[in-house]
Amino acid sequence: MSADNHNIAYLCTGKICENGLADKVAMRWISPQFERTDVTFAELDEQSNRFANVLSSLGMGKGDLLCTFLPKCMEQFFVFLGSLKREMITGTLFSNFGEDALLDRLGDSGAQVLVTKRSLYKKVERIRPRLPHLRHVILVDVADHLADDVLSYARLMDAAAATFETPATSAGTPSVLHYTSGSTGKPKGVLHRHGSILQQSRTCREVLGLTPDDIFWCTADQGWVTGTSYGIIGPWSLGVTQVHYGGGYDAGNWMDLLAGEGVTVWYTAPTALRMLMREDGETYEGVDLPALRHICSVGEPLNPEVMTWAGKTFGREIYDTWFQTETGAIMIANRPGLPVRPGSMGTRISGVEPAIVADDGTICSPGEHGNLCVKQGWDSMFITYLNNPTAYASKFRNGYYHTGDMAWQDEDGYFWFLGRSDDVINTSGHLVSPFEVESALLELPEVAESGVIGVPDELLFEKVVAYVHFHRGIDLTAELELKIRIHVANRLSSLAIPQEVIGVPSVPKNKSGKIMRRVLKAQYLGQDAGDISTLEE
Ligand code: AMP
Repeated sequence: MSADNHNIAYLCTGKICENGLADKVAMRWISPQFERTDVTFAELDEQSNRFANVLSSLGMGKGDLLCTFLPKCMEQFFVFLGSLKREMITGTLFSNFGEDALLDRLGDSGAQVLVTKRSLYKKVERIRPRLPHLRHVILVDVADHLADDVLSYARLMDAAAATFETPATSAGTPSVLHYTSGSTGKPKGVLHRHGSILQQSRTCREVLGLTPDDIFWCTADQGWVTGTSYGIIGPWSLGVTQVHYGGGYDAGNWMDLLAGEGVTVWYTAPTALRMLMREDGETYEGVDLPALRHICSVGEPLNPEVMTWAGKTFGREIYDTWFQTETGAIMIANRPGLPVRPGSMGTRISGVEPAIVADDGTICSPGEHGNLCVKQGWDSMFITYLNNPTAYASKFRNGYYHTGDMAWQDEDGYFWFLGRSDDVINTSGHLVSPFEVESALLELPEVAESGVIGVPDELLFEKVVAYVHFHRGIDLTAELELKIRIHVANRLSSLAIPQEVIGVPSVPKNKSGKIMRRVLKAQYLGQDAGDISTLEE
């Protein structure tokens, strides 16, 4: 095996075994019923080899595209690594997605293979006629093949060889695909490359502070970048044991898991910490976490009061970290050895040059507000938006990638988050596109038009609010509101459900017909809408 092989899956399995850790537990899988299964690095290697061979037997190879559409389950990890060994591009789709969200992503990616569960496949079946590229569906929970193109994972894996020679993969070879939401247009496919592992590995050491003796738990779903960069790649590249839990949020179970598994480093999100903060104090009585060294957080601003609460309750430092789907790995962070300034995201990590850039392209001085940018060329920089090179190019100016966030930097290099420069909504750490919600609402016969915004929320950071102009004679009733919510959940996902629906006689638009969400937001917050000279008469 070549010394400069950048293949993510090889570096997370075969290489770790070659380094003498074959019998070490790579994953302690805990089912929603709290049954435990240990998977060693040798087993992880073997299972992913088998899946790589499955893909070969199906005629799939380098550059072909596979998506998973799975709830948390062990197969997710074997499939992810197996398809990367085969040098395919691997997309992970959040299992809560509804039909429209799926169609956009599967359609745009042109995925030829989809790995899912029988119950979730029902959603796919309805849109399959519109997915001409999809050749093979593999179901992880059926014993036998259901059709020539609807196959049983178990049957395929049984027939596959346990060894696979991973090709020497260059750093530039495309690897992982995640879709991200913008404020206009369809979601964009953020494509990464195998070389991203350098940064994911480095940040696991420098920021999360991981060493081979750690027991690491990342609560993110594999449908999002944190779930792959830090729930798979970074920790396994260091030979770290990861706990993966198939259940959802439950304060009691989470405390049992942290204590029972002896978790040493825990990576979670501010909404989860705020939910924990709301629990009865009894939840934490007698909870002893001697093994836990620190807690890290990502996805939304970490409010100083949450930091204080978590610090007091767990007696540990909470390190906020900042990154996004496009950056592939942590760019700015608090970390061991760096004094925490509550409310700040921390300082830049090595190998990365973030800067605050003014709209005219000049670099801002300390204290000045501006666009949070990152100097082009870091190891885990995305390589394109799939099928959308124009959108990709538009993100780079004067050698800087524009993140879409606004921030400022203090004299000592600490970054402070201000908000988004666009209308994208960040609800519980997940980006929701107002455009996608507006499009889904338009599918309802009662809706004439709508404007969707995010407004501050104590628990979720932001909540989705829909201003809806209904057709003549239609009134907003509790029943209609429920219908709207169910519709959005079915078409997009439960994350996108409007928490509030407000009926209006018209939606403000500018002269070119663009919905002025800024005006709606000001209206909601009782603020001055600023310059409304471009508003449609
Ligand atoms: P995503 O690409 O879905 O992972 O979302 C990335 C976005 O989440 C960023 O551009 C920020 O707007 C937000 N975000 C991530 N981490 C933080 C953080 N530590 N503080 C504030 N916002 C964050």
